[in-house]
Amino acid sequence: MENRTENWKDALAHILQSPSSRLRLAEPLSKHTHFGIGGEADAYFEVSTLAELVALARFHRQWRIPVAVIGRGSNLLVSDAGFNGIGIRLIGALAQLTVDGNTVSVGAGVSLPRLSKAMSRRGLSGVEFALGIPGSVGGALIMNAGAWGSSFGDIVTNVTVMHDTGELTELSHAQARFEYRHSGLTEYFCVTGATLALEPGDAETITERMQAFYKQKVATQPFAEENAGCMFKNPPGDSAGRLIDACGLKGHRIGGAEVSTVHGNFILNSDNATAADVLNLVAHIQQQVKEKTGVSLQTEVKRLGF
Ligand SMILES: Cc1cc2nc3c(=O)[nH]c(=O)nc-3n(C[C@H](O)[C@H](O)[C@H](O)COP(=O)(O)OP(=O)(O)OC[C@H]3O[C@@H](n4cnc5c(N)ncnc54)[C@H](O)[C@@H]3O)c2cc1C
Repeated sequence: MENRTENWKDALAHILQSPSSRLRLAEPLSKHTHFGIGGEADAYFEVSTLAELVALARFHRQWRIPVAVIGRGSNLLVSDAGFNGIGIRLIGALAQLTVDGNTVSVGAGVSLPRLSKAMSRRGLSGVEFALGIPGSVGGALIMNAGAWGSSFGDIVTNVTVMHDTGELTELSHAQARFEYRHSGLTEYFCVTGATLALEPGDAETITERMQAFYKQKVATQPFAEENAGCMFKNPPGDSAGRLIDACGLKGHRIGGAEVSTVHGNFILNSDNATAADVLNLVAHIQQQVKEKTGVSLQTEVKRLGF
């Protein structure tokens, strides 16, 4: 390991051969999350080539500076104190999409709505559920995101991951260990992409199904406000939203954080909420639901910088 007294930020800029406009220091992560909450990351970089990602992985390994991949920040709560490390987002060569018959290679940086729309236009079925999920393919793989009875892992044949040595490994579906809103992919430095097997079908029918899912989602979930999707995982055989509603918690507020009146499993940043407000509200909901129903709710939203 290098002497930590050396300025790692200068070393990083040098390694990435990056002008200061690309490597941003003291970047507010509230700008990069759907919650609109969170302090600053020491550094933030939008990675556009595999070579840059390799350089970052090796930098992380050599300097022991934490690196967090931020997809679209739609399932993320960042601490008020921020993140002591480098936040990265995958763009460019890491956000590409290629189709060969019904086999689709997709970079982790591709957005789910873009994937969903592109596939429906080509008459490929399997990702209609994803138009209303404002995340990236990387985030969907990590979280095994899903809706309407489908999960992202269901359509995945392989996942490519990068180790902190910069080496790539192709994992099989089984090696990715997909479970309900969870996968085994968190143990790698970064997920770089996946291969999907979709079903050929009629483009018009697929598009109609995709739009019907989207309409239903927008009608039943708070879409316009700042939030991070479902805060809690559904307990087996039940729905977290139903339990929260049954406990009379819809509309409950702590500081600037509020339980949505549209859907009880969504916490909104309705008035300059802090991460502390959100976590206090989470704790209150967990305590009330446990007391009144006996169920222990587990959070789905990932935390960064705590
Ligand atoms: C309005 C709204 C509706 C939503 N609806 C749904 C829904 O119906 N179903 C559902 O499952 N979810 C839903 N979500 C939650 C969220 O969109 C999904 O979990 C999504 O898959 C997260 O993707 P992301 O790119 O935003 O991930 P982020 O929030 O950026 O990150 C989530 C986690 O994945 C990690 N990560 C992201 N990309 C990578 C990568 N390439 N390599 C390694 N780690 C990575 C991050 O470090 C973090 O730990 C919703 C969210 C919102 C705001």
